[in-house]
Amino acid sequence: MNIPFLPFTRPSIDEETIAAVGEVLRSGWLTSGPKMQAFEAALSEYCGGRPVRAFNSGTATLEVALRLANVGQGDTPITTPLTWVATANVMLEVGATPAFVDVDPATRNIDLAKLDAAIKPSTKAILPVDLAGLPVDRQRLYEIAKRHGVRVIEDAAQSLGASSCGQRIGAIGDFVSFSFHANKNITTSEGGALALPPDADPALCERLRLQGVRRFPDGEMDVDVLGGKFNLTDIAAAIGLGQLKRLSEFTARRRHLARLYFERIDPKLGLELPPADFENSNWHMFQPLLPKNVNRGAFIAAMKERGIGVGVHYPALHLFSLYRQLGFKAGDFPVAEDIGRRIVTLPLFPAMSDTDVDRVCSALSAILGKP
Ligand SMILES: *Cc1c(COP(=O)(O)O)cnc(C)c1O
Repeated sequence: MNIPFLPFTRPSIDEETIAAVGEVLRSGWLTSGPKMQAFEAALSEYCGGRPVRAFNSGTATLEVALRLANVGQGDTPITTPLTWVATANVMLEVGATPAFVDVDPATRNIDLAKLDAAIKPSTKAILPVDLAGLPVDRQRLYEIAKRHGVRVIEDAAQSLGASSCGQRIGAIGDFVSFSFHANKNITTSEGGALALPPDADPALCERLRLQGVRRFPDGEMDVDVLGGKFNLTDIAAAIGLGQLKRLSEFTARRRHLARLYFERIDPKLGLELPPADFENSNWHMFQPLLPKNVNRGAFIAAMKERGIGVGVHYPALHLFSLYRQLGFKAGDFPVAEDIGRRIVTLPLFPAMSDTDVDRVCSALSAILGKP
């Protein structure tokens, strides 16, 4: 018997959504139009009514948020070294120089106890990341940001559906950026969205999204700012509309599967599990740390041999060649470096079955339980 391969993630797209995409394809209007507007309206409602604009990636949303916050040349915005490299790449894209604060070993997110002392006059903005969907404590975060008068651009690419201090991510806060990449908790294949604070001009956000173009009722146009090519297609938005309806169902299923992992992983294997948070986290990923003596490459290969996909999200990004060229080096952020070397992403996605969890746990025992 051939057991199907179990990937670490897989999107759940229902037939209704597939039909809605077909309708867009037949409609004669493929790019940004009524579906994108409907998707933005649905996201805005989810975020408590604040303006939300859709983009073609979560990277584009971060870049535009930096521009709206006037972060550029001479600024040194702060983020965590334990994130997808996009969070820091966009800083370079706008001419700023990334700065990092090491992570808290318990949450694996930016260490708020170290953040305060790291803020300088050139910081201007903080980009916290909710790794694996576990939110940075928003109350503590905004206390620090307010005290120093710095903007916050929440990289909530992984935390749609999560909450902090009793409120959903997106409904509170300064700029909040989401991603709808195929691996995220809801997807548009590729896409993103930016929730705007009251002092950000949605019309400027739209111009930064599409070539800086301003259109007038008489058919004339002007360009007064350099914009990108970041608009979301109606094809993608139709997927997003179908996905957003299922967000709470997806989150509940993910929490259930994460609970099963906690119950069924043999504690004797020496894996360091993530914080057991079933209230705030959306369980975007389930990520144990391997014991220090285990070779990660060999572990991933052994899991693959058993038909199980394992991901790595992420090695500490300041050690990538591009960032070493900026002067960062091993030892700068030791907690992130250690976690980045040992972290693995085990399968967790809404369509996964309870018995799939058993299958993963048995493989873990077989591979790591050897004396
Ligand atoms: C996915 C992701 C992004 C980028 O989103 P894209 O839609 O792939 O551009 C940024 N930051 C984090 C933390 C992410 O997980």
